[in-house]
Amino acid sequence: MMRVVALVTIMIIFSSGCLLAEEPKLPAQSESTGAIGTIGLESENRGPVEIPQPTEKALSYYRSGNVLYLVDIFWGILISALFLFTGFSAKIRNWAAGLGRKWFFIIGIYIVIFTIINFLIDLPLDFYQSFVREHSYGLSNQTFGKWFKDSTMSLLITLVMGALLAWIPYWLLKKSPRRWWLYAGILVIPFTFVFSLIYPIWISPLFNDFGPMHNKNLEAQILALADRAGIDGGRVFEVNKSVDTKAVNAYVAGFMGTKRIVLWDTIISKLDENELLFVMGHEMGHYVLRHVIAGVLFYSVLILLALYAAHKTAGIFLRKFSSRFGFDQLADIASLPLLILLLNIFSFITAPIGNTYSRFIEHQADQFGLEITQDNYAAATAFVKLQAENLSNPYPGFLYKLWRSSHPPIGERIEYCNTYKPWEKGQELRYEEMFRNPQRKP
Ligand SMILES: [Zn+2]
Repeated sequence: MMRVVALVTIMIIFSSGCLLAEEPKLPAQSESTGAIGTIGLESENRGPVEIPQPTEKALSYYRSGNVLYLVDIFWGILISALFLFTGFSAKIRNWAAGLGRKWFFIIGIYIVIFTIINFLIDLPLDFYQSFVREHSYGLSNQTFGKWFKDSTMSLLITLVMGALLAWIPYWLLKKSPRRWWLYAGILVIPFTFVFSLIYPIWISPLFNDFGPMHNKNLEAQILALADRAGIDGGRVFEVNKSVDTKAVNAYVAGFMGTKRIVLWDTIISKLDENELLFVMGHEMGHYVLRHVIAGVLFYSVLILLALYAAHKTAGIFLRKFSSRFGFDQLADIASLPLLILLLNIFSFITAPIGNTYSRFIEHQADQFGLEITQDNYAAATAFVKLQAENLSNPYPGFLYKLWRSSHPPIGERIEYCNTYKPWEKGQELRYEEMFRNPQRKP
């Protein structure tokens, strides 16, 4: 559905992401909270926390999720190929040319037609994945009306952004057929920063309500922790994700003036205060260690590589199939499905590099969260709850970890929380000099 501005979307996800949970949309298993809650009450036992075995349901969710991941990839390739080899993309360009006349409008009209057709083709699969499947695991709160409203809103955003921005790479292709990939890759960086800036204030509120935290006592504790982390004027928002999902999550979004920590209302209701403070410590780690900026720069390099690879390989397709495609230049807007196809393939190839980097910064954030709270037990039980609520597999397979794990597997994170406590042995802490009040907790 969002393939037209796939690049932009990927960048938004990475720059506003740094999510605590593996997959933000993973729903939850509500019965499990009670059982885990009692662990927290037995406060005498604060020793190592056992890593729970995944339930049958979680394993089934994991396996079917892997199948769907592959289905999505093949579906994307198939649809792009059909647009190209049937000459349908060239037909859309002809319609757009008839309506638009001027180059800029032809691009815009092509994008609108192409996006709407794509949206309709993807709709059944999208509906199954984001609605039927979530409900069939008994894990979603979303009404059909809300799903439909959100999908329509995503379509509109894609249409507006696509129509406004798609002319840029095509203008570069026209002006500089040899170096367009380089200029486009460089332009991705400022665009991503602008998107990170406006995303939390203009886009996110279109889907959910963001407001101040309801629990003022907890908010005060979070602000005290933020002060210790050296964050001034940090803002904490609560978002009503419980209308969409039972999954739990928190994240850092925005850039400069719009930077904020966002807590889903679901995580506030499922985790106790100490667990939430560790989660906040993790998020503050992203904030203080400038992971948003680092992430944007890192992923820009990957995007530049994908653009270069697409530039190098597109010619092979154009030479062989131009008569079937109905275009012989990449600068022709009809080439959009070819560009999307190639960029998706190269993004897939570089995904393990991006995930390895993401797991690296997530681990740093975990370390920061542990050092600032020094509450290993609460950190470990927070992850136990996360695993249950989000139906995660604590030890996913090797290929899953490479291609899909943006965060370390939950089993590894719980183990780390159980064992990382240098303050008990009087050893140096990695981030201690960043803390504003270096006195340690009793
Ligand atoms: Zn994180």
